Amino acid sequence: MICICTATSRVPRRISIIWRARQTDTGRYRMQPLICRQNPIGLTLALLGLLTLPVVATAQTAGTQEIVLEGLNYGNEAEAQGAWHPSERTAPVRLVREDGTVALEVALPFASQPAWPRSVHDRRVSLDLSRPGEFLVEVLVEPVEAVGYISLYFRSGEGWYAASGSVTRPGRQVLRFRKSDFRTEERPQGWHQIDGIRISFWRGQNLDGRARIYRLVAVRHAIAILGPAAAIYGRDPEYRTARETLQRFARLLDDLGLEYDEWDDASPNPQIWAEQKVIIVPYHPRLTPDATKALAEAIRQGTRVFLNYQAPAELLGLLGIGKTRWVGQQFPGQFAEVRFDRQILPDLPEVMRQSSWNVTEAEPAAADAQVIGWWYTASGEATRKPAMILSPRGAFFSHILLDGDTENQRLMLAAVLSALLPELKTEITRGLLTRAVQVGHLTSLDELRAWLKTYLPDSAHPAWQSFAEAEQSLLAVREAQSQGKAPAISLRELQQLRGKLIQAYLLAQPSPHVEGRAYWNHSGLGAYPGDWERTARELSEAGFNMVLPNMLWAGLAHYASDILPRSEAFQEYGDQIEQCVAACHRHGLEVHVWKVNFNLSNAPQLFMDQMRAAGRTQMTRRGEPSNWLCPSHPENQRLEVETMLEVVRKYPVDGIHFDYIRYPGPDNCFCPGCRQRFEAEMGVKVAQWPDDCVSGPLRSQYLEWRRRNITRVVEAVSREARQIRPGIKISAAVFAEYPACRDSVGQDWVSWVHAGYLDFVCPMDYTNNHEQFVRWVKNQWQATQGKIPMYPGIGAYRLDGPDQVVAQIALARLAGVPGFTIFNLDEQSPKTIFPAVKMGATRTPATPPHRTQR
Ligand SMILES: [Zn+2]
Repeated sequence: MICICTATSRVPRRISIIWRARQTDTGRYRMQPLICRQNPIGLTLALLGLLTLPVVATAQTAGTQEIVLEGLNYGNEAEAQGAWHPSERTAPVRLVREDGTVALEVALPFASQPAWPRSVHDRRVSLDLSRPGEFLVEVLVEPVEAVGYISLYFRSGEGWYAASGSVTRPGRQVLRFRKSDFRTEERPQGWHQIDGIRISFWRGQNLDGRARIYRLVAVRHAIAILGPAAAIYGRDPEYRTARETLQRFARLLDDLGLEYDEWDDASPNPQIWAEQKVIIVPYHPRLTPDATKALAEAIRQGTRVFLNYQAPAELLGLLGIGKTRWVGQQFPGQFAEVRFDRQILPDLPEVMRQSSWNVTEAEPAAADAQVIGWWYTASGEATRKPAMILSPRGAFFSHILLDGDTENQRLMLAAVLSALLPELKTEITRGLLTRAVQVGHLTSLDELRAWLKTYLPDSAHPAWQSFAEAEQSLLAVREAQSQGKAPAISLRELQQLRGKLIQAYLLAQPSPHVEGRAYWNHSGLGAYPGDWERTARELSEAGFNMVLPNMLWAGLAHYASDILPRSEAFQEYGDQIEQCVAACHRHGLEVHVWKVNFNLSNAPQLFMDQMRAAGRTQMTRRGEPSNWLCPSHPENQRLEVETMLEVVRKYPVDGIHFDYIRYPGPDNCFCPGCRQRFEAEMGVKVAQWPDDCVSGPLRSQYLEWRRRNITRVVEAVSREARQIRPGIKISAAVFAEYPACRDSVGQDWVSWVHAGYLDFVCPMDYTNNHEQFVRWVKNQWQATQGKIPMYPGIGAYRLDGPDQVVAQIALARLAGVPGFTIFNLDEQSPKTIFPAVKMGATRTPATPPHRTQR
């Protein structure tokens, strides 16, 4: 039996419809509507006696609808086994009771049945799943290691929709499968005609285990984010930007504690879209006419729509917005920040910073539409260009949201969504409150208090003042919340409260005297192009002691190279190494010049063509050309070595830094030269090229040979650079996942550490998941046995704000490594990261540990 419970907007509040499905003789299900009630906290309860399911879903967000796909209301085990058919090499399900709840149990005999790749159970259904945006499966797997991953399939006629997830910890947990994560297999007829559900547990380690399924529901959320369909736009150059922008909105909604569905416009359904409460279009470069029509219909029927940057005039017109025209910036910094009108919406932030380079100018064209934010220049002058317009039907932002000012973006979105759909305010308040006390790497007020006690025992320190003020506001907010006054709580107040806690956290960081504090600079131009002096001064004042500027690629140099083509940056700003080293040394900063090895991106076409004509570029195993130099070619090895040595000979740099010192991936390189050199050097004959080396008998020898080609360059640079200038430091940016990178990209960087080729190493540990960051750092530190200093790379661009960068500095310190390297130094860094680290983490100067050794 299947029960569908929806809290629709078409029935009176607190009443929702339960669809009870009865299985017919043919095994199909027929729906019968029943009525159920919804209590104030959103828990949907069926009228007693009518509901035959033990569990009906809890709605998290206002307007959420759930469909129960597996109610577990079987009379006995035989009924359950009749519903879920095992495939061959799978045991039948069992019905088990556990603490008063019922679960389906699946045996996973992966030790005793070595030939069973997975368990597969199928159930016949007849469902229209075109509305839900997400599927939740509550499971338990014991032991966790027995299962590699879990797949959920929906069959539709001749094809399937499939998605996979993993169980990461012991105990019961809910796996979420977003509809946008499902891929198609063969030719499914559509989500509206689902005739089968399949659940598979795939073999992980060779262990006997079991899995239990407690819940399987489909969910539709009040909010949907709409992006371009990969099938239509996947090759569009703007597609990636659109995906990134969509993910930025998704993270902000996560922060606000709001659930949402992700849609694309592959097959717009006007009826379904019009049932949505809110649709956000973060950035769609070219909405199809059908999608535009469906959105227009949705707006007419009351759906609120938040459009960004490029939107068809028809849609903007419906929101009450007109006179659009695209405007490029006339000077850098023209569109530097949005200042909001808080008289219209008091919850809006004062300002939201982002460096936009063009906007879609628009004006209110209806009496109920108004400008709520204006663009200001970097020097604080009004541009008189509207940045954001709001009407009761939706909102429009004149550019896309860019990385950087997450805190204010979050508040902006909270204010706009609360204005568009006031019933969201309660959850947004709850979400912001939860978020407010998660600062840095800490997750609660108690953890922050304990951290402060450890690092700032003096209770007179200003950090404690901030903390006390925040705690007081927090008590007041919680009081208001408990009295049901959430709608009156000021979202801005929550933001300010969070600001005070962040301040306390930033102040309560120790500042060690020996530490490598580095910044990678991808442009090679510093934070202010043409002004290394200012970059160096501000870096030094912020407590850094090293910079790693990217001054050369495989085919390009930002300095007066006699070997590589000189860049446009060199033509425009002059010799960047010379300027950088002079300025940095004046300010006590070390310069370790970063080279992008092998990778020919940015190289002039002529250089690329010459290399290709000479047979020096890579090929994939399918014979496709890659724009990378082949690492086994002796002339390429020499070119890599000589260009790095040229820097050492010409400039008083403190060090030289490898990057891209690897293959692009497992598919490279299989050029004819590689075959020849592999056979000659290893004394073998490849019968089947390249299959024998890809997956055949020569695979492990080939992988070993690939590693050697890379390591040879590292060894040569290290040895010869040290001969040219004793004391010079050799370092490398390397892959986080070790030892996987030995085979995947031929980068055996731990062996370089043990062989003494490197003086320090910077694994690129870019993640916004702090647990992952710590796992990587600990694994790397253990693999190198601390033989040389390690300054793990922090991917600031992936982190939501400066307190998160400081969080990873703190975590690196707790893991015992003597430094960090932040990616990337750009024009925003001095405004955001510098002040945050300077407050505590880098308050006092430090010496890099590679100076005190050797
Ligand atoms: Zn090759």
